[in-house]
Amino acid sequence: MSLDRRTFLRSTALVPLVAAAAPKPADWNALARGLDGRLTRPGDATYDTARRLFNPRFDTVRPAGIAYCDNAGDVAECVAFARRTGTRLAVRSGGHSYAGWSTGPGLVVDVSPMRSVRHAQGRAVVGAGAKLIDVYDRLAADGVSIPAGSCATVGVSGLALGGGIGVVARKYGLTCDVMESVQLVLADGRRLTCDANHHPDLYWACRGGGGGNFGVATSFTFRTHPAREVTVFFLHWPWARAAKALAAWQQWAPTAPDALWANLHLTRDRSGLDLQIGGLYLGGRTACENLLDRLTDRIGAPSRTHIRATSYRQAMMTMAGCSGLKVSQCHLPGSLPGRTPDGRLSRDTFSAKSHLAYRPLGAQGIAALVAQVARSGEHSVLLDALGGAVARVAPGATAFPHRSALYSVQYYNHGTLAWLRGAHTAMRPHFGDHAYVNYIDPELSGWRTAYYGANATRLSRVKSAYDPQRLFRLPQGA
Ligand SMILES: Cc1cc2nc3c(=O)[nH]c(=O)nc-3n(C[C@H](O)[C@H](O)[C@H](O)COP(=O)(O)OP(=O)(O)OC[C@H]3O[C@@H](n4cnc5c(N)ncnc54)[C@H](O)[C@@H]3O)c2cc1C
Repeated sequence: MSLDRRTFLRSTALVPLVAAAAPKPADWNALARGLDGRLTRPGDATYDTARRLFNPRFDTVRPAGIAYCDNAGDVAECVAFARRTGTRLAVRSGGHSYAGWSTGPGLVVDVSPMRSVRHAQGRAVVGAGAKLIDVYDRLAADGVSIPAGSCATVGVSGLALGGGIGVVARKYGLTCDVMESVQLVLADGRRLTCDANHHPDLYWACRGGGGGNFGVATSFTFRTHPAREVTVFFLHWPWARAAKALAAWQQWAPTAPDALWANLHLTRDRSGLDLQIGGLYLGGRTACENLLDRLTDRIGAPSRTHIRATSYRQAMMTMAGCSGLKVSQCHLPGSLPGRTPDGRLSRDTFSAKSHLAYRPLGAQGIAALVAQVARSGEHSVLLDALGGAVARVAPGATAFPHRSALYSVQYYNHGTLAWLRGAHTAMRPHFGDHAYVNYIDPELSGWRTAYYGANATRLSRVKSAYDPQRLFRLPQGA
């Protein structure tokens, strides 16, 4: 029954888009019957959990349906439904979109059930709905990993399609740099695998062009790297050292040996102001301490130090804020795909903006950034070192253009938008107009150039070739 329906839908999928002019009524029951996975609709017991993203700011959005897709066939069925009925589509993996663009009033295609992670001979085949902590955990069992981000519940799709900055990026590159192929369902219903030899333009666009633009990814193949023992570190200084620490960190972190990655967090919360440099070294504790000495020589002795050699898997748990938890607990709680019954993580209400630092900040820029963090409120500025392997890829080789940036800058805010807008505006003269598409910012003017630089024109060409009717439509779409 389901197969017959699929065959029918696939044949209609190839009909030109005349249906756009006269959409057919949306038969949600028929869609539900045609899926191997589950369609959740208003009134269903799971609807209120299913519709929510990671950020409660978007809890007011009430989709007409959320389709948990078990396979690429389910995705194709949803795409055909959207096209036939004129229903707006949103695509969701981990649900961490800063702008809430993985939900909407129409049909949400959730790929979370496609979460298998298989590894063989230096390659990992990862389902598009896998959450990062599960990818790390599964691959660690085989002594390998992929370079990816730190947040446990981020979905591999959004991360990889937009780039993917993580704690081993300086050694192994961005997540998109190790993506060897991606399987997609396109707007016209075609399912294809793209790689360097097949649909190379689309493959290029999927490595940094941003999620939700070109099709629905259902599976990725990544090159893996060995995951041996590593050293993690967190150093704190009194706030009075903030300017000195920032000056030292930006000279040290982006030019350190590739095995070392470090961030700098400047935070103001209810307990006051905090200055932390944290990171990971792909090697033992002594060698790591020698590298950290070069930093502390410039800043002065830290007031608090945590340096620990640990397994790769445990390091990823620590970086995700899950030390002391089991992997199953390092999830959002619940029974829906992507959640676990014993999950202990919670959602977070925040807003964010970003810059990319192509040059070190001068004294005025440093003073301005420190002053912004000291303003009242609850907020952080997070600097993540780039350089190393990230910088050895040409800016046009993938859609992620910021190859010569020294570090990414993220303004992260828990209160009103006033601080966020003020800090971003104040730092613009110092950092310029670059931004990271994975920290997508609905208020950003000149977003196309800020996210994509000189790659913007090619991305628009790829969009026209693969989704000419703009079925996948984001407010800031490639
Ligand atoms: C707490 C937190 C920590 C983070 N840490 C990092 C980090 O360390 N490094 C880093 O680089 N980024 C980080 N990010 C940013 C993160 O990479 C982006 O928010 C990313 O887009 C999230 O992907 P997702 O699948 O979880 O989100 P979603 O909201 O599901 O998707 C994000 C975008 O991708 C699209 N999309 C989702 N699935 C698919 C699919 N299968 N096919 C096509 N399009 C799809 C969506 O439509 C949406 O536009 C972090 C974000 C948060 C909230």
